[in-house]
Amino acid sequence: MPTMRVAQISRPNGPFEIVERPIPEPGPGTVRIKVQACGVCHSDAMVKEGQWPGIQYPRVSGHEVAGVIDAVGPGVTWWQPGQRVGVGWHGGYCGHCEPCRRGQLFACTTGATTGITTDGGYAEYLVAPASAVARMPDELPPVDAAPLMCAGITTFNALRNSDARPGDVVAVLGLGGLGHLGVQYAAKMGFHAVGIARGAHKAAFARQLGAATYIDSTAQDPAAELQKLGGAKVILATATSGEAISAVEGGLAIEGTLVVVGAVPSMQVSPISLLMGNRSVKGWYSGTAIDSQDTLAFSARTGVKSLNEVYPLDRVNEAYDRMMSGKARFRVVLSMA
Ligand SMILES: [Zn+2]
Ligand SMILES: [Zn+2]
Repeated sequence: MPTMRVAQISRPNGPFEIVERPIPEPGPGTVRIKVQACGVCHSDAMVKEGQWPGIQYPRVSGHEVAGVIDAVGPGVTWWQPGQRVGVGWHGGYCGHCEPCRRGQLFACTTGATTGITTDGGYAEYLVAPASAVARMPDELPPVDAAPLMCAGITTFNALRNSDARPGDVVAVLGLGGLGHLGVQYAAKMGFHAVGIARGAHKAAFARQLGAATYIDSTAQDPAAELQKLGGAKVILATATSGEAISAVEGGLAIEGTLVVVGAVPSMQVSPISLLMGNRSVKGWYSGTAIDSQDTLAFSARTGVKSLNEVYPLDRVNEAYDRMMSGKARFRVVLSMA
């Protein structure tokens, strides 16, 4: 029986172990993908550290998958072997639960999540539901595509579903893995892109990404600086600190929205500011496979790129530690090549 190498976690807080497993057969409604690259995301800690309720171990994590369809299961007629594809956090939908029937496919109650409820992309092959698969443009190398399947789609989809229109001030808080993509998308979508981060040394980098304005939150009051620009129609909060998010809320324009995509434990907002200006705070789920497909196509066409540090699968423990250190510039990607 042909085998593949995977990096599995056998128990909460255990190491990634490289093991050989039989290459899985795609069941009805699924496809098998030969993985070329897989991003290493902070959410993978949910598997590594056992934070997600009910995870069954051993588990292969990884929800930023780029590869090629290698085989299709019974009943799948719309995907073919040889197609270049990606798979993200959203692990497919059932089509018949109540949210699915209301068109809210992202909230499917089956809760299928790649690399959490099913084995993910830290592997040479994975099997994914056909509804979780996104087309990857021919010109996009797998290592470039992989982080766009999570950090990319999250920021792209949050911005394109916001109320901001071309020319509006859109601020991106944080210039890390998510934020460095968010600034690029904001600029390419035609917004007045504002980067907010800690330190004057990041100004040049923010401008390279397309920010028209940079705010150093260690030297300036970000809320006051945004108000000087007329207020932000949207603030995309990618920061990992609740205090940093609370400090920018006052920079929202009338009817502006603070869109939170960074999973901070808690944060404070000012109800007075919200109600006096019809302002709002909302979260944004990343998106479904068609949103990933749009993200990849937009990125390939406009040149939005994730800056990556690339590791081979064998060095997965090192790659994960590097991501967790917060020092990676900016996304860590495993390459199976
Ligand atoms: Zn992720
Ligand atoms: Zn459903």
